Amino acid sequence: MKTRIYTADMIDHPDVKADIKKTLLSGKHVVFPTETVYGIGAYALHETGILNIYRVKGRPSDNPLIMHLPSPDTIAPYVVVEQPYVNALMDAFWPGPLTLVCKKKDTVPLWLTGGLDTVGIRLPSHPVAQKVLNIAGIPICAPSANLSGRPSATLFEHVLDDFNHRVDIIIDGGKSEVGLESTVLDVTQIKPVILRPGVITKTMLEDVVGPVEVQLETPHDIAPRSPGMKYKHYAPKGEMVIVEGETEKVVTYIKEQITLQQQAGRKVGVIATDDLMEQFAPAYVYTLGDVARETDIAANLYIALRRMDALDMDVIYSIAFHQSVYQEVIMNRLYKAANHRVIKV
Ligand code: AMP
Ligand code: MG
Repeated sequence: MKTRIYTADMIDHPDVKADIKKTLLSGKHVVFPTETVYGIGAYALHETGILNIYRVKGRPSDNPLIMHLPSPDTIAPYVVVEQPYVNALMDAFWPGPLTLVCKKKDTVPLWLTGGLDTVGIRLPSHPVAQKVLNIAGIPICAPSANLSGRPSATLFEHVLDDFNHRVDIIIDGGKSEVGLESTVLDVTQIKPVILRPGVITKTMLEDVVGPVEVQLETPHDIAPRSPGMKYKHYAPKGEMVIVEGETEKVVTYIKEQITLQQQAGRKVGVIATDDLMEQFAPAYVYTLGDVARETDIAANLYIALRRMDALDMDVIYSIAFHQSVYQEVIMNRLYKAANHRVIKV
């Protein structure tokens, strides 16, 4: 298959608009940027289109998809909003990186929700994503544009790596600003429940609606409320280890390991911040940026993981981020990438 590639400024052209609309309506796939990560978009109510997403990504069929809509006034045909606090959340965080899991109406097919009677709804804020949704005029499912188990794509180049010649259209929108997937919040209960952390943090949610619960996955959960959380995700190919503790001890430990691993002939990568780069010099170091710029750290994480793959690193050490305002989401993704291998020093 030859993939048609458009840049963000091309999508205002009438021919390109028509191509995007026709492609989606016929159940084919358009990869587009969102503020969180790139999404592989398909018409949410087109059964073949959706089943093909699972096939193309290699995604397990019980892992439900999030439905993307252009504005709050377009959600009514698909969900019943029962809890009184939901409107305040929509006002505060939409459009943006917050997915609300609501009770679904019969219009939403079960093959979209992995058999659940709820559906996740999101309104992306990225201008290209908004344009695609408005051009198409239909609900679109857009799971992260990565092959299942690989880190989500946050750069156009990453999308090409995974999907060139596998989808009809890819839209190049540069780097995803947030760089991590949306916060998934169950709003069917009296108290909202975080099912997947994101950069809309528990504290930010609580500032708007009061107490919020957290129910994250346990690796061996048989029926977690957010099925996607039971799968190993975001994994680089090399063996990744997170090193936690006081900075000085962390640095000493990683330096020792670099020496030992390199003596054993293994390629070593380190994920760190600007201030620590030089310390790990004999290894390949990917810096997530200035430790004080928390949004950069989040936005660069998947780029770091993909870089480690591109360079065929055998073993990857990462520092931890327990002081960050985004610690819930960053550590959640790091622990998964490392398959929960943590060394405390
Ligand atoms: P992705 O689109 O790849 O970012 O993954 C979507 C995430 O949202 C997965 O972790 C899903 O399990 C979760 N999710 C989607 N829909 C629901 C739902 N109805 N109930 C609970 N979790 C959901
Ligand atoms: Mg994903």
